[in-house]
Amino acid sequence: MSKYVFGVDIGGTTVKMGLFDVEGSLLDKWEIPTRTEDNGSKILPDVAASIEEKLSEKQIEKKEVTGVGIGVPGPVDNDGVVHKAVNLGWGVFSIKETLVNILHIPVMAGNDANVAALGEMWQGGAKGYENVVLATLGTGVGGGIIINGKVLNGATGAGGEIGHIHMNDDETESCGCGNKGCLEQYASATGITRLAKRRLDADHTPSVLRNGEISAKTVFDAVKQGDALAKEVAEEFGRYLGTGLSVIAGVVNPEVICLGGGVSKAGEILIDYVKPYYLKNVFHGSKDVKFVLATLGNDAGIYGAAKLVLE
Ligand SMILES: [Zn+2]
Repeated sequence: MSKYVFGVDIGGTTVKMGLFDVEGSLLDKWEIPTRTEDNGSKILPDVAASIEEKLSEKQIEKKEVTGVGIGVPGPVDNDGVVHKAVNLGWGVFSIKETLVNILHIPVMAGNDANVAALGEMWQGGAKGYENVVLATLGTGVGGGIIINGKVLNGATGAGGEIGHIHMNDDETESCGCGNKGCLEQYASATGITRLAKRRLDADHTPSVLRNGEISAKTVFDAVKQGDALAKEVAEEFGRYLGTGLSVIAGVVNPEVICLGGGVSKAGEILIDYVKPYYLKNVFHGSKDVKFVLATLGNDAGIYGAAKLVLE
């Protein structure tokens, strides 16, 4: 009988791994380094070896394992084929086939942001919902969209890339993707820092942000202290993200919008700045959406990867 499932989240520097029971309790978690040399050819064998090791440590037989789910920082199609993961040195190949051939356990693979959304829906902030938009606000803006309980992957696994929705025709700086005016340029941690620096340079308005480091954290800390300039920056961030999410909601009609990533550590105050712009711009049929914060933090990826196998 199947009792266990593994969730694996492959990042550019570490691979996070979790052993779950099929009800969704995390029994054990650990990390191994990501060896990206030789075009990342060691990564999957390392994952397999670590799983074999855990199985013998816990005295679990392979027939007790439903499967291994894997989240990857790149587009992965529905057949488990990755279409380039630049950070890992990977080109185009089947993750599923490669790992099944080493491990002889069923394998499922997906894009890491999409997989994280699945994790938040299964055991995190969006638990109990089936129509979910997750916006992960970190160095960039990642996203995952779940419709009727299913992850929206699209043709090549690039579905749910909400960070690169075009928001501003007048932007002069380029986004990491090469375009100009992407949502990520205003709603990521990097984007908030940039908005703050632009605002500080615009005139001599006093602000606590003039003394010391500027980051998404210091901006929201200043907002909480009542700093007027920091509040202006937060409004601009909220305008971009709230409007962007209203555009997405026009297509997806979610029940819940879940905000995650490092920026979401600011707490509920984030929602206070985003929701008014969402409500101002969204189609009336999607006004009743619930805004929540992600709760799984860095573990969302392993939860979601495990859930991929149980789908
Ligand atoms: Zn972009």
